[in-house]
Amino acid sequence: MPSESAIPGRDDLVARDRRCVMHPYAAPLSSAPLFAVERAEGVRLTLTDGRELIDGMSSWWAAIHGYGHPALTAAISAQLGRMSHVMFGGLTHAPAVELCEALVALTPEPLTRVFLADSGSVSVEVAIKLALQFFIARGQPEKRRLVSVLGGYHGDTFGAMAVTDPVNGMHHLFRGALTQHLFAPAPGPAFGAPWSPRALDGMAELLERHAHEVAAVILEPVVQGAGGMRFYHPRYLRELRALCDRHDVLLVLDEIATGFGRSGEMFGCEHAGVAPDILCLGKALTGGTMTLAAALFTERVAETISRGEPRVFMHGPTFMGNPLACSAALASIRLLLGSPWRARVSAIEAQLRRELAPCRALDAVADVRVLGAIGVVELEQPVDMARVQPAFVERGVWLRPFGKLVYTMPPYIIEPAELSRISEAIVGVLSGI
Ligand code: PMP
Repeated sequence: MPSESAIPGRDDLVARDRRCVMHPYAAPLSSAPLFAVERAEGVRLTLTDGRELIDGMSSWWAAIHGYGHPALTAAISAQLGRMSHVMFGGLTHAPAVELCEALVALTPEPLTRVFLADSGSVSVEVAIKLALQFFIARGQPEKRRLVSVLGGYHGDTFGAMAVTDPVNGMHHLFRGALTQHLFAPAPGPAFGAPWSPRALDGMAELLERHAHEVAAVILEPVVQGAGGMRFYHPRYLRELRALCDRHDVLLVLDEIATGFGRSGEMFGCEHAGVAPDILCLGKALTGGTMTLAAALFTERVAETISRGEPRVFMHGPTFMGNPLACSAALASIRLLLGSPWRARVSAIEAQLRRELAPCRALDAVADVRVLGAIGVVELEQPVDMARVQPAFVERGVWLRPFGKLVYTMPPYIIEPAELSRISEAIVGVLSGI
């Protein structure tokens, strides 16, 4: 056996990558900073050159238990020995049934039915189709538009892009090819700010005028993620729930980023005590080990679609209900429920509040905000990634700033000293720009 370092090509991975591999939100012929990672364990990523980085991103909200957790590895390995995949049409299996039961038990009460999807964006597509099919089944096919909010983000597929902020969002390029939905002002006021009775004026006016053609309102509960990393007042959701009911419009909550404890509650909607008609989950669903997402919905939606024409719900991905992913998700949920996650998330919140506060004094910084295990520093100007990304790596941390936002959402298992390394790196790097 050759020694690890003698494996051909191990050292020039980045150069080989640049010749043929595409990365997310990157130019096809990109020369942006890129780092080859060899191992991921706990909260540490080890690069091929041996450098160790403390992970401040949880691989985009997903790896809540850190990397390589033995319970997750064991669940996937055991399932691999039995059955890695079978089609879900006409067949079922224990990993899917047990996972769906667990999701129904964990999520707000009226959600009783689960559609398993393979990515967050696809679960949003499913949610949109469920809402449309609900009204088709009720003989109201004209209710086929959605209302979304500015600052929202729901994914990169066409349906998801069409409900993502059309002005500041990432998809304005494709606007002309997207279904034209309706957008209300960004939800507010900010989390922790005093309530404003005018907060839903724009939304109320939109629903007043368009309810006859609207199937659902879709938004992220309490935390708007990729559309700006903003936290808004939970009462907005309560008032919105009432508005939706008044106008016979379904409420879809996208908990793909917020689900599984990230905001300090198991689900973001619990800050408001609100249950949606349809709920999207993804990212941390499998603890970041496998790709899996879900759309949950109520018995009312299920019954209505089942009574309509064509009765069946028109969606069915090839890898639906993948047993490996379902086993991983089940193990991740059990791990989370058996852990002191709430105490961990609130300790991370307190520490980030304390340690990111010095950023407020920096000229480059417009705002600092923290909620649950999410810390955000918003800058006055977009960051220069070519400079900032390597600067974080030099300080031994993995962060992935985006536009004007430098943010961290670490694994919940991070130790205080490790989290301090992340905060210090943020304060240090931002002091130098
Ligand atoms: N909705 C939200 C709120 C998200 O944060 C994301 C992912 N960034 C998505 C949807 C899309 O999920 P995926 O990337 O798994 O398709």
